[in-house]
This record gives sequence, structure tokens and C-alpha cells, in this order.
Amino acid sequence: MLGLYLHIPFCSSICSYCNFNRGLLDPDLKTRYVAALAAEIRRTSQPTPRAADTIFFGGGTPSLLDPPEIASLIAACRNTFDLATDAEITLETNPETATPERLEAFREAGVNRISFGVQSFEDEELKRLGRVHSAARAREAIRAARSAGFANLSFDLMLWLPGQSFVSWLRTIDEAVALGPDHLSLYLLELYPNAPLKEAMAREPWSQAPDDEAADMYLAGLDRLDAAGLHQYEISNAARPGCESRHNLKYWQSGDWWGFGCGAHSTVDGVRWQNIASVEDYVDRLARDEAVTIDRRILPPADRAGEALFTGLRLTAGIDRAAFAAQHGSDPWLTYRAELAPFCEAGLVWEREGRMGLTRQGMLMANEIFVTFV
Ligand code: SF4
Repeated sequence: MLGLYLHIPFCSSICSYCNFNRGLLDPDLKTRYVAALAAEIRRTSQPTPRAADTIFFGGGTPSLLDPPEIASLIAACRNTFDLATDAEITLETNPETATPERLEAFREAGVNRISFGVQSFEDEELKRLGRVHSAARAREAIRAARSAGFANLSFDLMLWLPGQSFVSWLRTIDEAVALGPDHLSLYLLELYPNAPLKEAMAREPWSQAPDDEAADMYLAGLDRLDAAGLHQYEISNAARPGCESRHNLKYWQSGDWWGFGCGAHSTVDGVRWQNIASVEDYVDRLARDEAVTIDRRILPPADRAGEALFTGLRLTAGIDRAAFAAQHGSDPWLTYRAELAPFCEAGLVWEREGRMGLTRQGMLMANEIFVTFV
């Protein structure tokens, strides 16, 4: 089944490390954008609607949309696609936008999963990132989401922050666990060359921990999640059994997803395309009923095989060798056995019961291991 991704490119302020496709909220532009997004969804309508079982509102800050706007976009998806009755509908939500009333209204609009951009439970760390919320505000928002009846809550946390210590990272993990999440994403801070945070780090006394310590923080964090019943299922993701992100699994299991909104990417039936990145251009073109897609291409079989390998190895379940060979024509274990032997001996790669994958230590070295396949 398809996953539907809806990109919402507005934020209430811009974080000091972010280079996503987003801009500051402009209420008038937001109204026109929501109409354009619904129009883009509706015009993909086909005589026999394609089946879909996830909707993911990502951004930006999708929770800046008002609940009726979210409801109208879900309705556009429902009217255009054959949406499963138990579809997973996720709203990325920043704590500062989440009041009890808005959360209840989002749930009534059809959202059934909230992914909170918490990042850290340390106020100093949040300030350095330029986040608007405090740790207390995040706790309040999470409790309000539970009270509003959300049974599926995910938090994003960030690791390797400037000034973050081993101890403060574990405090954040413990706080997160205490709030009873169903799913957690642990992201490593990546700094692009001109990020304001990078410039601030050059001026300020805080810096990132050495690589080795960051690796220990990652492993210790995952150990705590194991103990709390949140099992790692992907390099950066852990969940209670049955609460893995159905939408994101489509990216890692070579599924099909259709992206809507400025800058959104899609891959459907072996064809990949992306939308133009500019919000204004996107809105104007849709108002004139013009195309918004660029770079449409059929993925060559070698590219599909390569991607399936890289994304499949991100999962702790690894790759089913026989299924991979049936789909892509060769068994990666047999093809790369000699090159992978040193990684197996070092305990970074495993092969058993017809599957192959990376150990937790191996996930720390994923890029080095992936070079084998290039
Ligand atoms: S809220 Fe998210 S998308 Fe918006 S600026 Fe911050 S990191 Fe970027």
C-alpha cells in the first residue's frame, strides 16, 4: 500500500541547525498553501483509487496548521485514495503549538499518531538549538496528548548536541522513558557548513563530544531503551512492539510513497520524482493548474537494488537474502561475502537464517560498511 507524505513548510522560528525546506509562518500564505496542497492531492485522482494506509504530515511544523485545515487535507486524501480504515495518520508536532484544545481537535480531525519534536529535556541544550519550547512545555504537551486520547506517541530526541554530556543525554533518555512513549527517534546532530549553530560554536565555550563519546552515548541510550521495552528496529528508531512507524518503514523496505507539497519526493511503481521547492512558486503553479513536479525518472534496476540494500541494512531485522535475490537478481551475501568478511569477524555484520544485517556496533560504522557495496 502507498504511504502519503504531506509537506508543511512553515515554522514559528528557525532553529540554528536546520536546513530543511521551511520558512517563517505567514498566515496568508499558509491558507493559500493548504488549498494548493489539497488541489495537488485531488488532481492525482485515478478511476480506480490506489490503496494507501499511512498519511504523514511532516515539515516544517505541521502542527501550525489549524485542525480544520488538517481535516480538509485528510479528506482530500480520503477522497482521492482508497485509504485503509485503520490508516496510521501522523502529525509532526512542536510542543509550543500543542495546547489541550488543539490536540483534541487534531484527534477529532483524524490524526491518530503524534510525533513530538522534543529534541532534549535540557533547557540549555534547547536554547542553543534555537528551539522555542522548554523542557517543561514539552512534558506538558506530551501529557496533554495522552489526555486527548492519543494512543501512539513518538518523540524525536537529538544526540551529539553542543555542550551535551553523557550524563545530560542519559537524563534526557530517562525523562523520555518516564513519559511512556510508544516510539522514539534518536537523531545525531548534523551541521551543514554555514549553520548559525556552527558559527555560535566557534564563538562559545561549548562544543560537541568527541566521536568515541558520542558512540558511547548512542549505545548507552539504546541500552536504556531496551531495558524500558522500547526495542531498536532501525538505526535511529526504537518502539514498543507493534508501534514501529508504518509510514517510515515504507522508506526502509522499498515501499511506495507519494509526496505532496513543495519539495516533496515520491517513489511509485519504480518511478521517482520531486516537487519544486519554493512555496510561492508551488502555490502559484497550482493556482494556474500547472505541473509542480521536476526530475521525473524511472529508477534503473541497479539503483533500486542499491537503495534496497542500504535502506534494508538500516533495519535491525536486516535483509531477507532470498527475497532480495528474487526481486533484484542477486544475493548480496554471496556477492559481497569476501569484502564483508572482515566486518563479520569484527562483529559489525551478521548473517543467519537466510538474513544479513548490521549489529548495533555495526550501525555506528554503517557508512564505512556501505562503501563495500559502492
Ligand atoms: S522546527 Fe524543525 S523544520 Fe522548523 S526550523 Fe526547527 S528544525 Fe527546522
